Amino acid sequence: MIIVVDKAECVGCEECLHVCPRETIFMEDEKAEIVQRTCDKCERCIPVCPVKAIKAVSIQLNESKI
Ligand code: SF4
Ligand code: SF4
Repeated sequence: MIIVVDKAECVGCEECLHVCPRETIFMEDEKAEIVQRTCDKCERCIPVCPVKAIKAVSIQLNESKI
């Protein structure tokens, strides 16, 4: 499972940046981006997003390579 930002939905409010304990979210072109290597999947960013752009998704890939 990984935590991802749906950039089509992100409105660039930066609320998620303020709650991330790992400081692993950054802004790119006014959209939030999560650095997977340092995200510990605490999911604190998910409920603070006003447009529900952050989602926990299951993936089939080997997560160690992300
Ligand atoms: S799940 Fe936790 S560590 Fe990962 S981006 Fe969200 S707040 Fe940060
Ligand atoms: S809280 Fe949601 S809308 Fe705001 S910057 Fe983060 S992902 Fe984008």
